[in-house]
Amino acid sequence: MSSPDGPLLVSACLAGFRCRYDGSAKPNRDVAGLAAEGLALPLCAELMGGLPIPRSPAEIVGGDGEDVLDGHAHVITRDGEDVTDAFVRGANAAAAVAAQMGCPAAVLQERSPACGVRTIYDGTHTGKLKQGCGVLAAALRRRGIAVVATEAVRERRA
Ligand code: SF4
Repeated sequence: MSSPDGPLLVSACLAGFRCRYDGSAKPNRDVAGLAAEGLALPLCAELMGGLPIPRSPAEIVGGDGEDVLDGHAHVITRDGEDVTDAFVRGANAAAAVAAQMGCPAAVLQERSPACGVRTIYDGTHTGKLKQGCGVLAAALRRRGIAVVATEAVRERRA
């Protein structure tokens, strides 16, 4: 059961952790500030699924994160490896932790095949985007945890 008093779940790369596929971070000042204040819980679903750093970048083919959870779409790396199982495992693990910690909402990195909220890459590895969410965003929504992109953080701190 989630309670409104838990920390915000945040994409670890937004909090400054170097967990992206290429070993970089995607630091966001507001998210890092929340984490420093103990108001945010940084997690990386890709690492929780057992994927290494660095790793080949992955995109969802045949749908979005909802479709992946339903078994109708796959997560495929640029090298052609099917990493669907790792993405599902990591998303479910991170969502379970978020629920256990009472996270009321998650602030996630847009466009990621795990963390994307409204937009993800289209599965062709050509830089094109499509509407849809990542696998973690879908898993969180299914547990009743709201997901937002980084723009919403300022409102929380105001
Ligand atoms: S899975 Fe989420 S937290 Fe991890 S690197 Fe990708 S966007 Fe960042």
